[in-house]
Amino acid sequence: MSANLFYGIRIVEPDDDYNDIIRNSAMLTESGYIIVISEIVIKAEEKMTTCAIVGVNWGDEGKGRMVDLIAMDFDVVVRYQGGNNAGHTVVNEYGKFALNLIPSGIFRKEVVNVLGCGTVINPEHLWGEIEKLHQAGISIEPENFKISDRAAIVFPFHIAQDSLEEARLADRKYGSTKRGIAPVYSDKYQKKAIHIGELAYPEEYKNHLESVLEWKNLTIEKVYGSKPFELDELMDWSMKFGEKLLPYIADSGEFLRGAYAQGKNILYEAQLGALRDIDYGIYPYTSSSNPLAAYAPLGSGAPDIPVNRVIGVVKAYSSCVGEGPFIAEWFGEEADKLREAGGEYGAATGRPRRVGPLDLPATRYGVKVQGATEIAFTKMDVLSYMEEIPVCTAYSIAGKETRDFPFHTLLPQAKPVFKTVPGWKTDISMIRRYEDLPQEARSYIEYVEGEINCPLSYISVGPGRDEIILRKA
Ligand code: GDP
Repeated sequence: MSANLFYGIRIVEPDDDYNDIIRNSAMLTESGYIIVISEIVIKAEEKMTTCAIVGVNWGDEGKGRMVDLIAMDFDVVVRYQGGNNAGHTVVNEYGKFALNLIPSGIFRKEVVNVLGCGTVINPEHLWGEIEKLHQAGISIEPENFKISDRAAIVFPFHIAQDSLEEARLADRKYGSTKRGIAPVYSDKYQKKAIHIGELAYPEEYKNHLESVLEWKNLTIEKVYGSKPFELDELMDWSMKFGEKLLPYIADSGEFLRGAYAQGKNILYEAQLGALRDIDYGIYPYTSSSNPLAAYAPLGSGAPDIPVNRVIGVVKAYSSCVGEGPFIAEWFGEEADKLREAGGEYGAATGRPRRVGPLDLPATRYGVKVQGATEIAFTKMDVLSYMEEIPVCTAYSIAGKETRDFPFHTLLPQAKPVFKTVPGWKTDISMIRRYEDLPQEARSYIEYVEGEINCPLSYISVGPGRDEIILRKA
């Protein structure tokens, strides 16, 4: 009877057995209805073409090692914000490298590496990085390295201004790395930055620099009482390093669009972490740019290319460089022990990092604002020395406990609420399969996963490329 006949569509995976589905395409249900599968729709094979690897916390989570690992699946790696104020440390068959500007994909020969328009570039520093890589036998050519013509130049006067302002602030200082990053981003929004692509037009460049310098020297001399900068010296500096970089300077947007149209996979690499984002972080103890994944398309030069996978990197404990509220912070002997075990010293500056247990309120917040679709959980091996693993589960603010990360004004009064979970007390750095991890280590991972509500799909147990456990949730 036609009243009892229903037609349905069956959606199947590409590797399902279609014959079996066709054989069972008409089903008599318990209530006597016949359902006929009238159409079989084969699910398109999912192919990720764009992915961002971002920090969920304060930075130094181990993003560089993740990019180095994952770059093999990608054709292009793009840095989309920041300058040489932070660094990635990558350990691979070429050696150990601290990269401040050049994307970590540079170690894969077939990968094209891009510095997007959201980055700020000190040409002298960048040239130094290129030379060091050249010396290690890594090829950096216009074919595998491109600098957006719209990236802003960091000048010596930005570095001077950074130091002068930190000195003026004295004990209220922001903990700047004094690489000129905050001044250059401020200038950008005052429309007083100079784009690196302008170097290709020396006459126009000189005129532009002259007018910017006239304005900048007012601040250097009249606000800080320091020595003004000379146009000729800055021109010599610009031409010396600019000429070396010119072959790499390109319209990054055009390049990325072309690559995307050809079906190339694009990986976006962030510097620092969500809590250092200028809009969403622990303002004003933030960076001057946006390390969030949502900014990746804007800062790359191709805002029209969407990001469809976001790997948030979370360290198995917390670390933080510089000033600002860091609620789960440890002090004294136990902090020293964790810092030593994790080698927590700045890649760019060598500064000892502040350390503490994993901070769940901060991590939950970071996962949310990053829009992380999965997590790479790093440095699990570092915790192997602990009898019990401490975790900051909540903050206590004015006597009230909260699991949420509060508005930044409330952070200085927040106190950590800690709990401990059992440790595993054994070396896990040789383990490559999730099921081979000690039960306590798996419990810690699954506990964190539940608390931050995002799958932990990579567990890193060492700095080396292969020291990782892939875990399909
Ligand atoms: P990034 O800026 O987020 O890339 O982080 P950094 O490079 O500043 O810090 C990460 C440091 O931890 C580097 O020295 C890495 O080589 C190291 N590292 C990354 N993952 C692991 C891991 O799973 N175990 C250990 N022991 N070290 C790791």
